Amino acid sequence: MSEADSSEARTQDRPEADFIRTFPCGGCGAKLSFAPGTRTLKCEFCGTANEIEADDTRVEELPFDTYLKALEGREEMVQAETVKCAKCGAEQTLGDNLFASACTFCSSPIVSKGYAARRIKPKAIVPFQVDHKRAQDEFRRWVKSLWLAPNDLKRYAQSDAGMTGLYLPYWTYDCNTATHYTGERGEDYYTDERVETTDSQGRTSVSTQRRKHTRWSAVSGSVEAFHDDVIVMASHSLPRTMHGAATAWNLKGLVPYQPEFVGGFRAEAYQVGLSEGFPIAKEDIDATVYGLIRRDIGGDQQRVHQVSTQYSNVTFKHVLLPVWISAYRYRDKVFRFLVNGQTGEVSGDSPTSWVKVTMLTIAVVIGIFILLVLFSN
Ligand SMILES: [Zn+2]
Ligand SMILES: [Zn+2]
Repeated sequence: MSEADSSEARTQDRPEADFIRTFPCGGCGAKLSFAPGTRTLKCEFCGTANEIEADDTRVEELPFDTYLKALEGREEMVQAETVKCAKCGAEQTLGDNLFASACTFCSSPIVSKGYAARRIKPKAIVPFQVDHKRAQDEFRRWVKSLWLAPNDLKRYAQSDAGMTGLYLPYWTYDCNTATHYTGERGEDYYTDERVETTDSQGRTSVSTQRRKHTRWSAVSGSVEAFHDDVIVMASHSLPRTMHGAATAWNLKGLVPYQPEFVGGFRAEAYQVGLSEGFPIAKEDIDATVYGLIRRDIGGDQQRVHQVSTQYSNVTFKHVLLPVWISAYRYRDKVFRFLVNGQTGEVSGDSPTSWVKVTMLTIAVVIGIFILLVLFSN
């Protein structure tokens, strides 16, 4: 039995209800939500803080090749399914690719069983550190800093900014690379040259000028490296402009996945598969290798001609990472902002107020005009 088969068997042995479930409060039996920055599930009704039992399993790396073989030819889909809220009984469909969410009607945590059909389940998670209030504060601070944004955006930010806590799926890859390259090393040197200049009156003067030259010589060599935790977002739900704050993570904060951490938040299943994710990771890995090659060539300048890289010992982890997101509509366009749920870092796109831009332009023109008048006197 291969390693992938056995660990798959392990996850399948676990009852579905063990992987995703809601937790009743020890005090009153109500469904609980995870409290960011803590290790407790908090009851909104009776105030009881229910401790999450520590799981001291190590978060392990999994072998990429064995998993790929095991997955070969199998479609992976999360079908939208109808779930019934355990608290208010309302039936509803979870959004695209979500496997945990909140009831639309009473906002109590609900989970779908759809994710249990996925071949690879998240083994590790960075629990939310930033709570809802801090996420809203970060958003307001960000809006305040945008002084070319329309005033109604600022009003919107003051009202409830509608932040949603979401766990996004990621792959992290480790691998070794061995690269052979050919290229050129450039050594700079300078010469002093006599330059004759003739001014408007026809007088010639002679001066010396330093000029830079580069001597190129052919080189070849090899570099080896270990790449640790190269991270790839496995979701298509965020537009590229929003990736900024969702790419910088401290993966030392990873703990073994426990369904308690998802309670009360939304969580998304992966849409970028394990095999599709690796070429994306390779772009980062190759950029690192390119940097190593240039350092290996040395000199003042480098030219890289041919690169051939072998990737070995590829392993991966499937993890969930926390973000607060919000989307708002302004004049029929949707703008989004995002707060990193671990670090509080913010990314966002915002509308620009053309009135403000025009006024700024006019102010600059007037300013220049005043300066010109002052100087001409
Ligand atoms: Zn309670
Ligand atoms: Zn409900």
